[in-house]
Amino acid sequence: MLKLTFLGTSSGVPTKRRNVTSLAIETRLGRDWWMVDCGEATQHRLQHTPLSVHDLAGICITHVHGDHSYGLPGLLASASMTGRKRPLILAAPRPVRDWIAATLKHTELFLTFELIHIDVAPEQRLHREGGLCIERFALSHRAPSVGFRFSLEQHGFKLDTAALKARGVPPGPDWGRVQAGEDIVLADGSTLAAKDFRTATLSKASVVVGGDNDTPALLGEACRGADILVHESTYSEAMLQKVGPGPTHSSVQRVAQFASAAGLPNLVLTHFSARYDNPAGMAELEAEARQHYAGQLFMAEDLASYELAGDGLLRRLLPNSPPAC
Ligand SMILES: [Zn+2]
Ligand SMILES: [Zn+2]
Repeated sequence: MLKLTFLGTSSGVPTKRRNVTSLAIETRLGRDWWMVDCGEATQHRLQHTPLSVHDLAGICITHVHGDHSYGLPGLLASASMTGRKRPLILAAPRPVRDWIAATLKHTELFLTFELIHIDVAPEQRLHREGGLCIERFALSHRAPSVGFRFSLEQHGFKLDTAALKARGVPPGPDWGRVQAGEDIVLADGSTLAAKDFRTATLSKASVVVGGDNDTPALLGEACRGADILVHESTYSEAMLQKVGPGPTHSSVQRVAQFASAAGLPNLVLTHFSARYDNPAGMAELEAEARQHYAGQLFMAEDLASYELAGDGLLRRLLPNSPPAC
């Protein structure tokens, strides 16, 4: 019901294996997908996925820093050059809107579609459409930063297949008709009422995606009942103590302890400092996370996709390898 594809997992600067931050979120509600953050060259990463910029419903920017936003002008220009017509939502701080407007003007870029800007403040709910609701939550960073919660609700029907078989209806098109609520006439002339053979179901799924943030507990309300938390963990705790509070980032330990206390079943760590982009560095971060968090844990990798299964557990879909830069 929820699929996450990481388009960039590095903090500050890109490395050969990790681009700067961006995440694609897909739902089963349709082809539309959403992007959270758009670091430089995000559109290059998109080329390695099946995702189309024409199906992109909106872009949510957590804060103004370049490793989360410098990919926007190029992405918008490419969408225009390939003939996008449908409006695109840009949920971003006002300075991002002003910067994009200036770039469009000074580079003579005339978008072929409407860019609908939604400012970060003041109301919490950002977007509601169909079964999707997007909310935002204020975080703590040296620039104003927010996290987003994507909540999905999908209504459906479960067929009582045993009862259908008992009434002599074998698997086939008739099952589809009953599922769709259509009464069917059986071979003996009797009518089978669909309502007696299907039960209404409601599936829910939610993911919270944090922006840069030195206080994960600020996401306490956002994470209530959530299935997944995606959060930056720029440093190990030892390195965070060494660099001091100036950068206002989180350590792996800080996020893992919060996720554990919040009872989150799935945790994906991302936005790693380039100093950890080697096997020993990532092993150090993962070991620190596992020391403080016993749930389903993933250290995000570029182009890796993860899907939330019906059992509430997140699973990695494909063993993708990042392309050589
Ligand atoms: Zn960042
Ligand atoms: Zn930042």
